[in-house]
Amino acid sequence: MTVLRFEEARRLVEEHARAADASTTECVDLLHAAGRVLAQETRADRDLPPFPRATRDGFAVRAADVVAVPARLKVIAEIRAGQDVTGITVGSGECAEIMTGAAVPQGADAVVMVEYTMGEGGRTPSSVATIQRSVASGENVVPCGAEAKANQVLLESRTPLTPAAIAIAASVGIVQLTVFRQLHIAILATGDELVNVADRPLPHQIRNSNTYSLAAQVTRVGAIPIPLPIAADNECSLRTLIEQGLDNDLLLLSGGVSMGKYDLVEKVLNDLGAEFFFTGVQIQPGKPTVFGRVVYKGRSKYFFGLPGNPVSTMVTFELFARPMLEGLSGIAPSPLRFSIAKLKSEVKTKTGLTRFLPALVTGEFGNLEVELVRWQGSGDMVATARANCFAVIPPDREKISAGEGINILVP
Ligand code: AMP
Ligand code: MG
Repeated sequence: MTVLRFEEARRLVEEHARAADASTTECVDLLHAAGRVLAQETRADRDLPPFPRATRDGFAVRAADVVAVPARLKVIAEIRAGQDVTGITVGSGECAEIMTGAAVPQGADAVVMVEYTMGEGGRTPSSVATIQRSVASGENVVPCGAEAKANQVLLESRTPLTPAAIAIAASVGIVQLTVFRQLHIAILATGDELVNVADRPLPHQIRNSNTYSLAAQVTRVGAIPIPLPIAADNECSLRTLIEQGLDNDLLLLSGGVSMGKYDLVEKVLNDLGAEFFFTGVQIQPGKPTVFGRVVYKGRSKYFFGLPGNPVSTMVTFELFARPMLEGLSGIAPSPLRFSIAKLKSEVKTKTGLTRFLPALVTGEFGNLEVELVRWQGSGDMVATARANCFAVIPPDREKISAGEGINILVP
């Protein structure tokens, strides 16, 4: 038995996740690349911006001409976004009306916002503009190449394709991206009491919900869930289905990892020659969580044995399986991000375990309040579905008073 503290277990998973390798790649259209992991370097095909860009509607001027204001300048052109400015030069005592996104013409080195100018007879275009405010050289202009130089690397390989990364690919003209293959994550629910969702359970049976909650979590990480048939609590059934699961990139098991007589998952994995990194974590819910690796058909495969109580399964996926999936998909595991919220009412617990308790966070930015939802323990999905975060109770706190700030984890 290797039972670790929460931080130790998490660090260990992150180490494996960082060392994991993604290699197989495929091509996808830019429109279908969101959430995938880039497997190529992306470079700027020209300077960005490709011309000095006006960032305001107004007048392109020589800053030196508007040191003393009001200044009356001759309007020599109107420049719209997309207009070619070759041949336009703003001379001393001159300006050009300009729109956001347009190229700043030669001679001009700043843009005065239209709000600080007046055409003769109001704001209608006129041949003379009165500038009422000075500008520094460079103000409201992004110089050519200031964002990136031609051929500069904009996205490294192994970058997650966020909306911002997609925008970069689009702006440098890439319509097909090389990305890493999506992971196939086997999901194996175990338990004699389980029936398929479509079947009618007898009074002593329950429907298998974990396969579905895990599939939803796997999908959110950008991988493909591969649900396996329910395994019965006997070695033969478990072994057959575990072997099927190991044909995938990673195996998630739910149930069968506690201390009961019919909790056989660890035994079967052990018989298959598995190496166990931990077989328990000092957390609630989710204490019996198992993390390990086994060589199957000559290839090393990671697995997680997650406790079967539905809330435990869900929490331990977020805490441990998720960073491993990220690592295997080619990116660095993202750190757990906590927010701080004020506890609405006192919490009393026993010390020793880091607790992740279903809770409801309300309030506004900078002034969040959190309250634990009343629950019947880690099997209580009904209470958890009413929660919108997990309140984190550190292992050394017996009592936390109302009004104290605590960490919350929003999955
Ligand atoms: P176990 O981890 O196998 O001891 O299961 C703990 C609790 O979770 C028991 O009450 C199980 O009935 C329940 N459970 C286990 N697997 C599932 C599942 N796939 N869907 C819903 N509940 C489950
Ligand atoms: Mg069980």
